[in-house]
Amino acid sequence: MKIMIAGGDGFCGWPTSLHLAARGHEILIVDNLVRRTYDEELNTQSLTPIASLEERVRSVRETTPWAIDTLIGDLQDYDVVEQALRSFQPDAIVHFAEQRSAPYSMMDREHAVYTQVNNVVGTLNLLYGIKAVCPDAHLIKLGTMGEYGTPNIDIEEGYLRVEHNGRSDVLPYPKQPFSMYHLSKVHDSHNIMFACKAWGLRATDLNQGVVYGYQTDETRQNPLFVNRLDYDHVFGTVLNRFCAQAVIGHDLTVYGEGGQTRGFLEIRDTVRCIELAALHPADQGEFRVFNQFTEQFSVLELAKRVEAVAQSLGFNTKIAHLENPRVEKQSHYYHAKHTKLLDLGLEPHLLSDTMITEMLQEAYRHQDRIRASALLPTITWR
Ligand code: NAD
Repeated sequence: MKIMIAGGDGFCGWPTSLHLAARGHEILIVDNLVRRTYDEELNTQSLTPIASLEERVRSVRETTPWAIDTLIGDLQDYDVVEQALRSFQPDAIVHFAEQRSAPYSMMDREHAVYTQVNNVVGTLNLLYGIKAVCPDAHLIKLGTMGEYGTPNIDIEEGYLRVEHNGRSDVLPYPKQPFSMYHLSKVHDSHNIMFACKAWGLRATDLNQGVVYGYQTDETRQNPLFVNRLDYDHVFGTVLNRFCAQAVIGHDLTVYGEGGQTRGFLEIRDTVRCIELAALHPADQGEFRVFNQFTEQFSVLELAKRVEAVAQSLGFNTKIAHLENPRVEKQSHYYHAKHTKLLDLGLEPHLLSDTMITEMLQEAYRHQDRIRASALLPTITWR
């Protein structure tokens, strides 16, 4: 297949590009490299030293038979989107290219506006571009489990059967997102659903859980293929952040009681989920929703897992509870369905102590790149 990967220089997009290219698909990465400029803005960096996109792709060409091309451009610019679609004529478009940090979106008005404009306009441009250029192509869009919030009933995969005043219907599952970023994803979902209904486009919304880990079979093959690993309080996902904290003797910072429960998955499962969605496209006119995670944990459970493994390796690791900077329920019911990707053949890599050990060892190797002050939350929701 010809697969365009918007956001292919990012944490999920780069290993997905390699994974799909290694399976014989022809890849076009479209990225404006803005993720690298957030690092400059926040005075932080990936824990792992990463090559530039140019170096990454040059070394793919020099050392593998894989077909990866790049186009540096912004999805907010419709001409870029249309040019990419016209020249490449993709069968599928994987859309990762959004501002994806909840704290970043909650910094102030400017960051909230930037996040929502970047995400919503980029997705709208893609929808109009697909309609104009390649209406049969399958849009695979990264959403988030955070769109649903934490309702006191089971979370279904996208849709809920509702009985009301003696009548019944299947309706989009109610959305109660956690941040301006998560709201942007809800706006995207509505826009994509409308485009499928009005124009007959085909789309899969992957409501992804929190991703941990950073290596896949392909990123391990060459030091220039290594993936980014964010550890800071703005972009670092919780397990990755705990591992960075443990190796520099910092407390594992749990926000509030730590009862916040979410869906999680390993990066190797992210890349496989995208492949499964691409190999089994939605029907024309269908807006399909999958919940993309493999296990659920509370933040405190994860902290205890990292604490135990770190202590067994000789680190003097402790858990510290901080006042929660976010507005969220700290203990709540959480049961989210996630069977559709399993039905397509996903074989999950569940969180193991071996995995946590590898993460701690990698963080230890690069401990000189960790800035301790970037670990503590300074952005509040209030
Ligand atoms: P990332 O920030 O590492 O990667 C996003 C990439 O998109 C970056 O390379 C960035 O430069 C690019 N980009 C952003 N805006 C762009 C624009 N307007 N035009 C072109 N390129 C643009 O993020 P990630 O962690 O790889 O996440 C990828 C997607 O998965 C996001 O949509 C995110 O919301 C979703 N997601 C991620 C997680 C997670 O734990 N990382 C969890 C759930 C959902």
